[in-house]
Amino acid sequence: MDHLGRIKHLQEELDGSLPQGGPDIALYVSHLPNVRYLCGFTGSNGALLVGAHSAWFLTDGRYRTQAADEVTGAEVDVYALPDQLGGALQRISAEIGATRIGFESDHVSVAAADRLRGYLPDCELVATTGLVEGLRRVKEPEELDRIREAARLADEGLAYILEKVHPGIAERELAIMLESHLRLQGAEAVSFPAIVAAAERSALPHAHPSDRVVEEGRFLLFDLGCIVDGYCSDLTRTVVVGHADDRHREIYDLVAQAQQAGLDALAPGRTGAEVDKAARDVIDGAGHGEAFGHSLGHGVGIEIHEAPTLRSTSADVLAEGQVVTVEPGIYLPGWGGVRIEDLTVVTADGQETLSCSPKELIVL
Ligand code: ZN
Ligand code: ZN
Repeated sequence: MDHLGRIKHLQEELDGSLPQGGPDIALYVSHLPNVRYLCGFTGSNGALLVGAHSAWFLTDGRYRTQAADEVTGAEVDVYALPDQLGGALQRISAEIGATRIGFESDHVSVAAADRLRGYLPDCELVATTGLVEGLRRVKEPEELDRIREAARLADEGLAYILEKVHPGIAERELAIMLESHLRLQGAEAVSFPAIVAAAERSALPHAHPSDRVVEEGRFLLFDLGCIVDGYCSDLTRTVVVGHADDRHREIYDLVAQAQQAGLDALAPGRTGAEVDKAARDVIDGAGHGEAFGHSLGHGVGIEIHEAPTLRSTSADVLAEGQVVTVEPGIYLPGWGGVRIEDLTVVTADGQETLSCSPKELIVL
């Protein structure tokens, strides 16, 4: 779907689905990933005002050329200086006859909402949540192609970095090599700073790479992702360096079983909570429930964490074309942890796994 199609889709939502909807409401879209999704703009200052029958992209003079190159589906209005947004908003909202302005309350600070109120004294402000994010949940084929390519690059990056592992090398060194490799292979950026966690640090689900060195007979966890054409990937594998003992194998197998149970539970119509439970039950059943302290997975797209979520409290209903991670873990403080994460797309009858890295325990 082109940008115009996406904006039309949003206009239908504004008119129909929104409880406060109607032809006199315009949505002020300021969250940059949403702006990018709707009109293609990739710069760091720009917003859309989407009315019932028209859409305007607003940015300041620094982005005049970039907006002309990138933005489609919306009229472009360039104001000279960043602090002149108010005047432009006032002018356009009057022109399109909007008397109520929706704003993205999940992404607008209290101070920014106050400013908006000051810019538009004659309009009523309406807090909205998740409107564009809702449209972004189901990926179009072209979006899936980009995510698939980002996933392929992550797999390739993992294979590359596993060859560089040896006892004594620091997490930080591996992280730097991994990230620069992903960039050199064509990623426009990493989707988050790579996690490389050696030995006992693998028990920290969000470890930042440190000077801790890789040690024989211990786990080593990699969590990485990259961005291709604006779309993210996310992949985790845990390996053992040197030799694995029975406990390594037992914990690893348990996480692998839970991960498979989560993958098997994915299907249109299932809730995020149901899928989370399918994986969590495996870990709970083995007595390690306390050691799996995070949610099972999250949506991935323009943002590395987006809707839907797979967690015990998630009422999100899965649909074909949604992209989610499945990433259970067991973390035993002081000893180590295992997480296995794949990127998947929900299909008509289940899921297709986009990550292709091996899942049997690798002993390097
Ligand atoms: Zn991850
Ligand atoms: Zn993830």
